[in-house]
Parts: sequence; structure tokens; C-alpha cells
Amino acid sequence: MSLVDTVPAATTLLTRPLATTLPAATTTLSAATTTLPAATTTLSAATATPPATPLDDARSQLTAAIGVLGYGSGLHSLLATPRRELTVAVPLRRDDGSTCLFTGYRVQHNLSRGPAKGGLRYSPHVTLDEVRALAMWMTWKCALLDVPYGGAKGGVTIDPRLYSQAELERVTRRYTSEILPIIGPEKDIPAPDMGTDERTMAWIMDTYSVNVGYTVPGIVTGKPISLGGSHGRASATSRGVTHIALAALTHRGLRVNGATAAVQGFGKVGHDAAVFLTEAGVRVVAVSDQYGAVYNAQGLDFERLGAHVAATGRVDGFDGAEPLDGDLLLELDVDLLVPAAVEGVLHAGNAARVTARVIVEGANGPTSPAADLIFAANGQLVVPDILANAGGVIVSYFEWVQGNQAYWWNAAEVEHKLAERMLAAWHQVVDYAAAKNLSLRAAATVLAVERVAEAHLLRGLYP
Ligand code: NAD
Repeated sequence: MSLVDTVPAATTLLTRPLATTLPAATTTLSAATTTLPAATTTLSAATATPPATPLDDARSQLTAAIGVLGYGSGLHSLLATPRRELTVAVPLRRDDGSTCLFTGYRVQHNLSRGPAKGGLRYSPHVTLDEVRALAMWMTWKCALLDVPYGGAKGGVTIDPRLYSQAELERVTRRYTSEILPIIGPEKDIPAPDMGTDERTMAWIMDTYSVNVGYTVPGIVTGKPISLGGSHGRASATSRGVTHIALAALTHRGLRVNGATAAVQGFGKVGHDAAVFLTEAGVRVVAVSDQYGAVYNAQGLDFERLGAHVAATGRVDGFDGAEPLDGDLLLELDVDLLVPAAVEGVLHAGNAARVTARVIVEGANGPTSPAADLIFAANGQLVVPDILANAGGVIVSYFEWVQGNQAYWWNAAEVEHKLAERMLAAWHQVVDYAAAKNLSLRAAATVLAVERVAEAHLLRGLYP
């Protein structure tokens, strides 16, 4: 049951601008507005010029939700601003004896509903602003799916493909040591994201456990099952994407069986999503990775493609398909497009050429607000990241619960509970969007932001 049902007083307060209902808080928080001039400028400019960065996009989406909710500037600043940020130097002694240096980040965007939760990204393109955006989206995702967490994200500026396992282990352990003061099973719980995996989580768990002097499985999720990981976690994001994609196709009046799809990104999310969609009867005709794309009008054979990728590390060169330009994959004439790679790939420059009837965001932040407007004008349905790819954080929550209780569920239990939560959230967002005449993204963001704001209001402002 949501607080809207149980705390009418809070609801009443929240329907009015917070500036009038929370004078003390607003006064205190107005300082935050002055510390955020760049953000404020960007937010007002967002209506005229399409935002260029993931953080611009995240702030623009929040501004739109705040507009619907009618909150004042004090609460807006509070919700737009990370609670805590840490930037650390991560030196690495390479296998050849030389030394190099990376930068690591951990951003905790919001802690009002529980410990911070969010993935760890290894990519040479990671920036503090990107991590801020990803942390903000985590806050909304956790609130929308009603898991008891705030949002966080981490990153290290390393291209993991260029380093040995031993080097990646040293980088992970050093980064973990540097951020140790702000993480913990009740503080902030990392998980895999781009460029990291369950092996990375095992190293974080071990480093943290050695430092505190006892084994702490709850410090990370997405661990190997033999270390207290959950059944179904590795495939949870893709399972969730598939549940939502099938529901969205049906919602649009399209038949699942024989519907065509293209998937951008062939990593942890994209690969399994393509396989699960195929198992459900969807014909996945194209997939891509950072090196290229492949296309087969009859549908790709994922067993053979998987073997090719395992052998070569990339999808291009697969003899069961034609080569395709990676950017053109987004513009294929398909029923379903699943961007499952990086932010900002659907933007004002290409959105008009994207013809997929349904777009389900496996990645975080793939669609800019300008592209959203074009898709809405063209009648295309976009299911936002904070709903579509939430399967991962749902099963991360299950993993944390199981670890805290030292009692593990079987795969069928996990899968059943995941499907139940994903589809309940889907129906809630669809119904809310219809009732309020909002896009699915706006509806999802409004629902999430309102829950986080309620938590702030009920907790009050310290001191
Ligand atoms: P991953 O590192 O396992 O795979 C990323 C894939 O994207 C790789 O195939 C890579 O080659 C490809 N890629 C990178 N840049 C590309 C580009 N410009 N064009 C096409 N392909 C490109 O990462 P992942 O865990 O699958 O994450 C993918 C996305 O899903 C990210 O946005 C991530 O934040 C999001 N996400 C992941 C999870 C999770 O549980 N792993 C959960 C929710 C959201």
C-alpha cells in the first residue's frame, strides 16, 4: 500500500507547493538553489534547446515531473541534488610493473527511502556528471518499484577490455578501499553495470569483508550464487525488459508472436533480452555492440551468435547474418526497439528516422527529451528505463533480503516475484498515464518523485 492511501495529511500537503507547506525546509533549502546555478540555468534552457548530456536529460525529466506535482523550488533543489559525492584517485600497478591512474566516483543521489543502491560502471567515458545522472535515475527506479532504497551509482574511468583480470582485481580492490567509508549493507550497496560483472562484485565483497573483519554478503548484489548471490539475478534485468516489452506490444495492439525486434547492445542486458524475446515468439532481426551490428530478416540464431561472440568478442563477422551499420539498427522497420547499451543514442538528430512502434529502454537514459517529443508526436510508445530495466534492482533487493536472512529462494520463486512486481508497476504506470494524460515516462517519473518527496516530508528536515 502506498503512503497516498495511508497518510492523507501528507498527500494533502504534497498537492500544494512545498514552499507554502514547508516554510522552514524551503528557507533552509533555498541555499541549495544558490549552489546549483548551472543546474538551474540548464533546467530553464531545457525547454528551448535539447539537453546534450545525460545529466541534462535527467534534470529535464525531473523538472517536468516537478511541474506536474507543483512542488516549490526548495524541494526541487533537494530532489535534483546528490546527497553525497566522492571522487577518488585509483592508481594501478600494471602487470608489467608500470603505474597508471584512473578516477573513481561514487554518487549517492538520495537516501530518504533507504540505503543507496546502484551499479558500478567501468568505462573510459565515465564522468562525474554521468554518474550523477545514473544515480538520480536509480532513485526514481527504486521508488517506482517500491524497493526500500535510495539511488546511487559508481564509476571508474577504465576500459576493462584493455586490462588483465589481475589488473581489474587490483583496480576494483583499490576503488573499493577508497569508497569504503560511504558503502555498506545499510549505507550503499553496489551492483554490476556496464563493464563490471559478478566477478567484480566478489572482489568488492571480499575487500569490504577483509576490512571490517567478517564476511558481509549484503555489501553488494549481483554476486556469484556460491557467495550468496540470488538465483535469477544475472538475467533479471533482461527478464524484466522482456516482461515489459511483451506487455507493451500487446498494449499497442501488436501480436507478440512474429513481432520483429532490434536490440542495441549485446552485453548482460541486450544478449539475454534478445534470447528471452526470441523464446517468447518475437523475431529478433538485428543486434549490435560497440563494434558493429548484424541483421537477418528471418531472425538471428542466438546459440550460434553467442558462440561467435564468445570466440571473437564481437557480433560482426557472424556468418549467420548480414553486416549492418550500428546506427542504422536504430532506424530499422521493426515493431520493437530495445536500446540496451548507453545513454543518449535516440536524440533530436535521429528520432524522426526511428520507426519502431514500441521502444523499451533496456539501457539507462537512451532517449533524450527532444527525441521523446518526436516519438510522442509520431504515436510511438516509449517505455522508460526506470520501469523497463528495473528487473535488476528488484532481484538485487531480493538478493539483499535473502542475504540478510541467510535464507535462499529457488529460481522459480525469484522469477515469479520478479514478474509480479514488474507487471504491477507496468499497470500502475499505464493507468496513471491514462488518468493524467501523461507519457509513460512522465507518469513513471511523477509517481517516483512523489514517493521520494513524501519520504522527505514525513522524515522532516534535520536539524
Ligand atoms: P555490458 O557492459 O554488459 O554490455 C554493454 C553492451 O553495449 C556491450 O555489448 C557493448 O559492446 C555495447 N555498446 C557499448 N556502446 C555501444 C554503442 N555505442 N552502440 C552499440 N552498442 C554499444 O553492460 P550492461 O550491463 O548490459 O548494461 C547495458 C545498459 O543497461 C547500461 O545502460 C546499463 O546502465 C543498463 N542497465 C544494466 C543493468 C544490469 O543489471 N546490468 C540494470 C539496469 C540497467
